[in-house]
Amino acid sequence: MPLPSWVPIRDDLRPYEPYGAPQLADVIMLNVNENPYAPSAAIADDIAAAVREAVLGLNRYPDREATALREALADYLGHGLSAERVWAANGSNEVMLQILQAFGGPGRTAVSFAPTYSMYPEYARDTHTRWITAPREQDFTVDPDRAVAFVEAERPDVVLLTSPNNPTGTALPLSTVEAVLAVAPGVVVVDEAYAEFRREGTPTALELLAAHPRLIVSRTMSKAFALAGGRLGYAAADAAIIDALRIVRLPYHLSAVTQATALAALRHRDELLAQVEALRAARDELSAWLSGRGHEVAESDANFVLFGRFADRHAVWQGLVDRGVLIRETGPEGWLRVSVGTPEEMNAFYTALSEVDPR
Ligand code: PMP
Repeated sequence: MPLPSWVPIRDDLRPYEPYGAPQLADVIMLNVNENPYAPSAAIADDIAAAVREAVLGLNRYPDREATALREALADYLGHGLSAERVWAANGSNEVMLQILQAFGGPGRTAVSFAPTYSMYPEYARDTHTRWITAPREQDFTVDPDRAVAFVEAERPDVVLLTSPNNPTGTALPLSTVEAVLAVAPGVVVVDEAYAEFRREGTPTALELLAAHPRLIVSRTMSKAFALAGGRLGYAAADAAIIDALRIVRLPYHLSAVTQATALAALRHRDELLAQVEALRAARDELSAWLSGRGHEVAESDANFVLFGRFADRHAVWQGLVDRGVLIRETGPEGWLRVSVGTPEEMNAFYTALSEVDPR
């Protein structure tokens, strides 16, 4: 629904609707790449105790620099990182918005390789940053030579590389990131929201940080850590890049409750991450099952799989919803994306898809 004409919103925002995947009740949710395994009762108790402690100090503003949390995140990431080279915010959504506030803006350009994460153009729009994409290859990889030519032509202030990419699941070789870094005049962001799900042998761009001061690697606790509701995203970069983000952050942007929650969750990282192995195996099974049925399947290093192609993908999506399974109608025309769930959820998906699309 467009806004009523009396609402004096910015002209460029008027045509838009708020972003959001459907949040339906009583369906199996395989549509937003969440971790299907909730934290255990023991972890919940520990987080609750940490939050109680924080609540006793809620009359005061939180630690503006979230230092203890950034230290814990640096410790988790390894690679010789320390608190001043790590940033944290309310989801990697906020980290990315802050990156565009600091490094994008009027007269500046951000680029990426499509299809990719649907929120990037919104951050660009909201910060008045010009947004352009170059197409990925047929198999959704990024050709390094074409990427270099594109970056040389556009001279972008921000390059957003997503690895593994959403919605395709495609990871980038480090050589492609390095090729882009060699020609990019501004910052290069590698969005590794799904990094923990990558297959054996797929590297992380954290390895490149020491040699590349304009590289930012973004991560989140929403996926592998099963903490989507906690809203904690973070990024690693040179300390001076982090200082640039500190200029645009809202004062006290990260609540004491959020900081306490994330710190407590990080203390239990082994248990929270324990399901990652199972999810990776289930992802590979899902890909094999879909291929076995004759679908086209994008190779995935994430906790979701893009598959196709359907003459009428909306009908397939709707057929699955009617059977209580919610997946995502996203990506190029004809493709659908399904997140990896529990074995029971996957079986429900397999049964529903077999009914909707018998082969
Ligand atoms: N980056 C990518 C590629 C994503 O898919 C998502 C979530 N769907 C995010 C960032 C944002 O995650 P969050 O804000 O929960 O950290």
